[in-house]
Amino acid sequence: MNTTALSMLPMILAIGIFYLLFKAIKGSLGGGGKVDPVGRMICPACGTRGQPATKTRGSLAIEIVLWLCLFIPGLVYSIWRLTTRVPVCPACDAEGMIPVNSPVGRRLSEAAGREQHTIEI
Ligand SMILES: [Zn+2]
Repeated sequence: MNTTALSMLPMILAIGIFYLLFKAIKGSLGGGGKVDPVGRMICPACGTRGQPATKTRGSLAIEIVLWLCLFIPGLVYSIWRLTTRVPVCPACDAEGMIPVNSPVGRRLSEAAGREQHTIEI
């Protein structure tokens, strides 16, 4: 009676693997961060405004090697990478960007704004 469930298992696992790999590759390549003078987030470390990039810990190469060698370590590594992704500053990679419209964010953007007059791009 378990044969049906057992024959489905490899397919379900394969779909899971492709889904995780797709997400991991997308996260590693994309990031999505952008320096934007009118962005909604500001970095408390360097004062850059923009959209936070997504930083994925670990390495895609290690992930692929683990997947190719052994199933369980690859799965654990993928889950760890996907669950520890953090938004970071697109300019300096610091974690913890804050909204510009928060009190601290406003102060930072005003301070950065004063300095930016001398840096014309
Ligand atoms: Zn920064």
